[in-house]
Amino acid sequence: MTRRTWALALPFVVLFGSTSNAQLAIDGYREPAARLVGEAVGSTFAWDRLAALTDTIGNRLSGTPALDRAIAWATAEMKRDGLENVHAEPVMVPRWVRGAESAEIVSPAAHTIAMLGLGDSVGTPAAGVEAEVLVVRGFEELEAHAAQARGRIVLFNVPFTTYGETVRFRSTGASRAARHGAVAMLVRAVGPPGLRTPHTGALQYSSDAPKIPAAAIATEDADRLQRMADRGQHPRVRLKMEAHVDADVESANVVGEIRGREKPDEIVVVSGHLDSWDVGAGASDDGGGCVVAWEALRIMKKLNLRPRRTVRVVLWTNEENGGRGGLGYRDQHRGELARHVLMIESDGGVFRPLGFGFTGSDAARAKVTAIAGLLAGIGADQIAAGGGGADIGPSVQEAHIPAMSLDVDDAKYFLIHHTPADTIDKIDPVEMAKCAAAMAVMAYVVADLPERL
Ligand SMILES: [Zn+2]
Repeated sequence: MTRRTWALALPFVVLFGSTSNAQLAIDGYREPAARLVGEAVGSTFAWDRLAALTDTIGNRLSGTPALDRAIAWATAEMKRDGLENVHAEPVMVPRWVRGAESAEIVSPAAHTIAMLGLGDSVGTPAAGVEAEVLVVRGFEELEAHAAQARGRIVLFNVPFTTYGETVRFRSTGASRAARHGAVAMLVRAVGPPGLRTPHTGALQYSSDAPKIPAAAIATEDADRLQRMADRGQHPRVRLKMEAHVDADVESANVVGEIRGREKPDEIVVVSGHLDSWDVGAGASDDGGGCVVAWEALRIMKKLNLRPRRTVRVVLWTNEENGGRGGLGYRDQHRGELARHVLMIESDGGVFRPLGFGFTGSDAARAKVTAIAGLLAGIGADQIAAGGGGADIGPSVQEAHIPAMSLDVDDAKYFLIHHTPADTIDKIDPVEMAKCAAAMAVMAYVVADLPERL
């Protein structure tokens, strides 16, 4: 739509607060939206690109040569796609090293535990730590038995409900146990029962407690220790971890753009995080999110669709154990944060898309709800409350930018999240293509609307 024809449609813009009028203004986007969806779902390009990343480079923990290779690869590939202003924006990131690690029940009978040390954990002495295990079902039970924690290894055996509810045992359990004199902390893997699958993930030490080594163990092994404790068998565990933190190293966010044809200084960001944990291949978390965000621009370029505003893809570094990519972007782009119209993050997997979570004004919600209607054909037309993401968070909070997250059917996501099973074979090419279509349509239309959200 040209500037002149939009002027004729101005009454609809003025009345944008109501969903029905927003809908009328969106109708003009049916044709480009159909082309974007058709291009995305017409091939397996997104899945093939993710497979190439995860097979060729593999997982990408912050500070590793693998993440450096992924950054160089993404930069080169974006240039090959014909994206504009492609570059890497350096930030310093922490370098946590897992090293060799093991855990075993030593009595009443020897048993090897399926475990993964938690990110940012300290290690054990070379001989390991061996102690009786105090099994608790939550923080209250720990407090009730606090006197028994001293000199013991505390296991938080809390079945997974939602990630939001259960992750706190992983992130804060070590310091809670250490305050009562525990020598190490184990946590039941934060995920539904798998096939002896431990889930890693970051912990946060409190400054008021000693740093003790901490690891996640498979749900089956947590239940085994629970049964032993319930029988009064006083199970003993030996934990060995070489984990340590090295000095910060340089990493980077990768940025590419389709420059806006009328308002290039106004920006819609689409994004995912390129770093991952050091197990599995970082396919669902979050290589897939990177690729579907990037696809929005690749497909626009291929179809020669240049929106009014700039669409910028950002592949964040260091989401998993530091968030330095998101913080660095906020600091480096402070002067233009006020011109960010919308920031979208995809970090919940690229399974069957449902739509988006959104945080912003009611008027903006009416617009994005109308835009999502263009995705009804692929079932991605829901706008839910509460959009955001760990990486866009710092910028969104500082400049009150409307924020969005891609919502997908997450039934499979938390089964493989942060595990050795996070590999490309869990992802369906057609579902992933639909995620790319949803990102492309939402980013394009928001970037092209006559008035900003
Ligand atoms: Zn993630």
